Amino acid sequence: MWVDGKEVLASSGKTFSVQNPKNEEVIAQVAEGDAADVDHAVAVAQRAFQQWGQASAESRGHIMARVAEILRRRLDEFIDIEVEQTGRARREMAAQLARLPEWYDYFGALARTHEDTVPPFGGQFLNYTRRVPLGVVGHITPWNHPLLILTKKVAPSLAAGNTMVVKPSELAPLTPLLLGEVMREAGVPDGVYNVVPGFGAGAGAALTTHPGIRKIDLTGGTETGKTVASLAGRNLTRFAGELGGKASVVTFPDISPRAVVSAVMFASFVATGQTCVQGARLLVHRSIHDEVVNELVTRTQALRLGDPQDLKTQVGPLISERQRAVVEKYVRIGIEEGATLAAGGRRPEGAPYERGYWYLPTIFTDVRNDMRIAQEEIFGPVVCVLPFDDEDEAVALANGTEFGLAASVWTSDVRRAHRVAHQIEAGIVWINDHHRIDPASPWGGFKMSGIGRENGIAAYHDYTQIQNVIVNLSKEPFDWFSDDGEAKRYS
Ligand code: NDP
Repeated sequence: MWVDGKEVLASSGKTFSVQNPKNEEVIAQVAEGDAADVDHAVAVAQRAFQQWGQASAESRGHIMARVAEILRRRLDEFIDIEVEQTGRARREMAAQLARLPEWYDYFGALARTHEDTVPPFGGQFLNYTRRVPLGVVGHITPWNHPLLILTKKVAPSLAAGNTMVVKPSELAPLTPLLLGEVMREAGVPDGVYNVVPGFGAGAGAALTTHPGIRKIDLTGGTETGKTVASLAGRNLTRFAGELGGKASVVTFPDISPRAVVSAVMFASFVATGQTCVQGARLLVHRSIHDEVVNELVTRTQALRLGDPQDLKTQVGPLISERQRAVVEKYVRIGIEEGATLAAGGRRPEGAPYERGYWYLPTIFTDVRNDMRIAQEEIFGPVVCVLPFDDEDEAVALANGTEFGLAASVWTSDVRRAHRVAHQIEAGIVWINDHHRIDPASPWGGFKMSGIGRENGIAAYHDYTQIQNVIVNLSKEPFDWFSDDGEAKRYS
């Protein structure tokens, strides 16, 4: 674990192993934290809050700029480990992790440039607000983008003056732990950033229900989100949840079938489909459906699976046996529901795929919107193709799931692009792109995809609470109970 600025063992002495998904080799033994460890980490973070919560925004901003600088310098080390623990292709992790320092720069600058308000107030008063930190916050993160998702929570928390306890996914806790070294080197005081690895039902539940935690920020599945939100609610702990998704890639016939295919492959197969904004549903105009499907199948079958550390590899394995079992279950369901398996739908054969959690990128055609494969989050490299006849039907299909995290709209008609985007019930809509993210740009879901926003000023605000200071400027003596016969007023 990483607590109080150093590596420590779990109080129980227990550990768990972290595997490389490409070959199932154990790459690390990690401390398994429990309720006692969470308790200790929260106490450490409460103590550190006395200092960090009072530090000037300027000094927090300077320290965060140093975090960014050190991360840039140690980038390769983080990329190596991220690839080993997630199995994601190096070309993706190198691109993703190279962006992370931007979050520390952006939120550090936001802290330094933040201005409070002076709301109107009747009578002789000066009235102003201050945004103050919440205290100790808890971050519960998944395995698919271990450091990116954590960074989206840590950077605004630090900038706003909070201290934190992180419970990373037990499948990928190594980069969150290593980040502790960067924090220490950058001058983040000991105890501000703490990591208690462990399991959801152990360390995760203990963090969620801890009365010393002022906010729980979770990225995970929608069911986990509901459980964690209801547990947090018992202590009136704030909750933010970035939860499941089932994004549509809506493609109109005014762009070429080839461009549609490139769009959907980028949207659907990055991270072997294990992203919350994965293009799980390709909505394609019927007039180009057959041409798109033919080319999509050809290009999908040509994708290069292989050693994720090799920069030429395009698709890595799934994270775990459990995740592969989920994908295989949904492929069976899709076939039973009557969809047509047009590509993939099985494990690759031969070396080097005998070990590891490999699965071929998969395409289903003849999918109806009421099928489970079109509705439920699979979290794997599976795309469902659904044809539409007109714009209204495309919008209805795009909105026809319980999720509302993201969607992309592909068209060269500028009016249609915005018109359709405005009708889509999703927190993020890309036009002629997918997957793009920026620290300044709000990220989060509508409907069952979550509560709250990461990134941008909204995220910074959500890690603060407002204090209102009302100053009486009057020279008149004040005595509410004086017997002067005058009517009294409140303002
Ligand atoms: P899970 O929901 O299984 O787990 C997320 C985190 O919550 C893990 O650290 C997990 O611990 C922990 N957890 C599980 N149960 C509890 C509990 N009762 N109390 C406290 N903590 C708990 O998600 P995955 O890790 O499998 O990640 C995939 C999911 O994340 C997908 O549904 C995906 O859509 C979503 N996601 C959403 C994103 C977004 O921005 N909206 C981005 C990325 C992913 P443990 O792993 O030890 O069980």
